[in-house]
Amino acid sequence: MGDSNFINEIKKRRTFAIISHPDAGKTTMTEKLLLYGNQIQVAGTVKGRGSDRHATSDWMEMEKERGISVTTSVMQFPYKDCTVNLLDTPGHEDFSEDTYRTLTAVDSALMVIDGAKGVEPRTIKLMEVCRLRDTPILSFINKMDRDIRDPIDLLDEIESILNINCAPITWPIGMGKLFKGVYNLYQDTTYLYKTGQGHTIQQVRAIKGLDNPELDAAVGDLAGDLRDELELVKGASHEFDMQDFLEGRLTPVFFGTALGNFGVDHLLDGLVQWAPSPQGRETDTRMVEAKDENFTGFVFKIQANMDPKHRDRIAFMRVCSGHYEKGMRMRHVRLGKDVRISDALTFRAGEREHLEDAWPGDIIGLHNHGTIQIGDTFTNGEVMNFQGIPHFAPELFRRVQLRDPLKSKQLQKGITQLSEEGATQVFMPLRNNDIIVGAVGVLQFDVVAYRLKDEYKVECSYDNISVATARWVYCEDAKMLEDFKKKCHDNLAIDGGGYLTYLAPTRVNLELTMERWPDVKFKKTREH
Ligand code: GDP
Repeated sequence: MGDSNFINEIKKRRTFAIISHPDAGKTTMTEKLLLYGNQIQVAGTVKGRGSDRHATSDWMEMEKERGISVTTSVMQFPYKDCTVNLLDTPGHEDFSEDTYRTLTAVDSALMVIDGAKGVEPRTIKLMEVCRLRDTPILSFINKMDRDIRDPIDLLDEIESILNINCAPITWPIGMGKLFKGVYNLYQDTTYLYKTGQGHTIQQVRAIKGLDNPELDAAVGDLAGDLRDELELVKGASHEFDMQDFLEGRLTPVFFGTALGNFGVDHLLDGLVQWAPSPQGRETDTRMVEAKDENFTGFVFKIQANMDPKHRDRIAFMRVCSGHYEKGMRMRHVRLGKDVRISDALTFRAGEREHLEDAWPGDIIGLHNHGTIQIGDTFTNGEVMNFQGIPHFAPELFRRVQLRDPLKSKQLQKGITQLSEEGATQVFMPLRNNDIIVGAVGVLQFDVVAYRLKDEYKVECSYDNISVATARWVYCEDAKMLEDFKKKCHDNLAIDGGGYLTYLAPTRVNLELTMERWPDVKFKKTREH
């Protein structure tokens, strides 16, 4: 392997995720991306997740979904000269922590917006997360085959609510039944849409030039409307600027329909052309650049495969620098141990395969036997930890009630392992032997109870408990911290990672406590 090959592999990589509100079209878009990536022949074959997949009650459904999503969590495919890694973010809001952490492992994101609905709450939240690292964002306004809102209003809304400038790359001609295609402002070319071609890649007719009479012949009166509208658009919107895009201040916008498989290729072209190749990542000792030859990576997600045939846990690691080769040794920094990795996995078209080698930007799957935690760093021996892989303060709390008191050891073990995975968070109050489970979404409690029974043979139920929210507590002044621990003893707990946590019975109590202890830090997120 020469240096130039290494640099070349890095330059080819595009690692991104889709951010969207449920139902905006993420799944449909993913399917079409795989179609262009030659990973499937006909769209509609990837998965038949039913329309009730957002349902919260049905266990088996959930298990199925978990089974499906483990194999589709990461998809690698070639497009043009690039190798694209698409990281799936779980659809259900209850797993949003996973989503946040997945976004720490990408170099760019694709925002899919339902053109009829505009900017929706979850998109806003996810954009906030992307902001933390100024992740470059590409945008796709979906469902042009429906009657959507006025495109100019949509861009206005994105600009004002999400606080990012919009640079339309394509502009739609008509909408709904009258959707005729898009005009590319930078190629001065119109691409015509044909209905009923959503399942395969089709030849699209292109017409060069805005004043081309062929355009009038093809789209009729809409050609005149397009010319007028473009005058307005050019005045009101922003021109694409690479620097602004890379710094997360401007998003190139594409219009199309994922269902009709139109505009998806324009977007992919934009992705390979503009989205950054693997970027550097900050550690507690230094910045790691992708081109550093020493291997480094961090774990952003752990998932248990619900397939009963191989009930294994997979840790998803993003390679940050260097080259992974099958059988190589790496240092598990938190444990201070060297491990030989010979059975790592890669994910092509949702199938796991044994991995021979991987480059910066790639995601590799490691078999986890309980030793790997979210946020763990692996290196070639150097001692450092990647930053910015947060745990979020839970909003919901329950006390665990064990049915069979003799099983408290198993309960401890199960609940600790599940909290390592990020499936839930666990708190042990200082003042008694309760076990309190904290979650961001209510579905997590059911998942935990189900998995405790299924995987650890422990049956439990939950009690309500008067905890409104939690904050991780830090204080540089050791004496003050001791003081604080004494005074607030009854509201303090240790979490699954061994960190001191304040469990506030009410929001008001939290505010008062924070006022009373101005030098104690109460944090909503915990980093590794
Ligand atoms: P997700 O929840 O974001 O993954 O959304 P899905 O991809 O499952 O799409 C939600 C619904 O919108 C499904 O019924 C899709 O068939 C539909 N849908 C997705 N894209 C389009 C589109 O471009 N046009 C129309 N009319 N429907 C779409």
